[in-house]
Amino acid sequence: MSKRDYYEILGVNRDASEDDIKKSYRKLAMKYHPDRNPDNPKAEAQFKEAKEAYEVLSDPEKRTAYDRFGHAGVDPSAAGGGPGGFGGMGGGFADAFGDIFGDLFGNAGAGGRRQGGVYRGADLRYNLEIDLKEAARGTETRIRVPTLETCETCKGSGARPGTSPTTCGTCGGQGQVRMQQGFFSIQQTCPTCHGAGKVIATPCSDCGGAGRVRKHKTLAVKIPAGIDHGDRVRLAGEGEAGAGGGPSGDLYVVVQIRSHPVFTRDGPDLHCEMPISFGVAALGGEIEIPTLDGHARLKIPAETQSGQVFRLRGKGIKTLRGNGYGDLLCHVTAETPVRLTEHQKELLKQLEASIRENATHSPRAKSFMDKVKEFFNPG
Ligand SMILES: [Zn+2]
Ligand SMILES: [Zn+2]
Repeated sequence: MSKRDYYEILGVNRDASEDDIKKSYRKLAMKYHPDRNPDNPKAEAQFKEAKEAYEVLSDPEKRTAYDRFGHAGVDPSAAGGGPGGFGGMGGGFADAFGDIFGDLFGNAGAGGRRQGGVYRGADLRYNLEIDLKEAARGTETRIRVPTLETCETCKGSGARPGTSPTTCGTCGGQGQVRMQQGFFSIQQTCPTCHGAGKVIATPCSDCGGAGRVRKHKTLAVKIPAGIDHGDRVRLAGEGEAGAGGGPSGDLYVVVQIRSHPVFTRDGPDLHCEMPISFGVAALGGEIEIPTLDGHARLKIPAETQSGQVFRLRGKGIKTLRGNGYGDLLCHVTAETPVRLTEHQKELLKQLEASIRENATHSPRAKSFMDKVKEFFNPG
């Protein structure tokens, strides 16, 4: 039985470009596809013929062989048998075909929906802003989140109450169909049910057949004491509803802590800056400092310098795991007095003159001046 010339079948010249061959094949495939020609028994044969021609001419190696040896060079029935065979039904072969089908049918079943249309719902994220005190002590709050919930009217089936989804006739409920075309077949997502395996003849009017509806829900969230900026609290199963009986996703509440006017946080520790008068810095004294819970008293020893840090143990934030507490670190600054009266200035001048008489009163200034001298007069 003599076979028709491949170029003739595709209606292209012998020097046609790959693109022309592809275009021509697509046209023929559309025209003769068995699904489009249920009443034309010849269509299937013409479809197969075009496909075979395309498979050969779209592959540079096979096309060269065909150009040199004719059908004998590429006979599918001899595939893999002859010397230097052309690889039979190898991957590249099916890929080229899948490529075309991808163009014809949209997404040709690669990835996409899982069989049966059963999905876990998406996880949701909710940003919750709290203040430092709430983070330190823990808090309970209510949040309102938009979500997809299982439709109550149809209980998620998507079918109008009293009816039920029926098994898809195209794929027999598999969600996938095998296109048996000549000597190989490809599997793709069922074009009728889009992978769900079921079709809904009379959709639920409340969800339009989706089985899920957009809603808002209010949830109570417990924020544990010691939570830090960026930590998240997981509310299992409070994300979007699943589809087709799949489980719901989770809701993650991501905590953001507003900056505090007095304290900065470093894990369980708190830091604050505390200005003290230079009198207290020099003579020592007791000052009142703020804590997250109120006040505490801090003893300032005599001869305290600016920048010195005092640690109040346990006045920080509870650790998230365990029962310990962090510390409060108080950074003190001796403040230079301003808006002095003439009398106060006079007293200060006397004090200053008295201090200058002996360098040991200002050890930092002295050591600094010593370094300067050393730098300018080495040796
Ligand atoms: Zn519904
Ligand atoms: Zn189907």
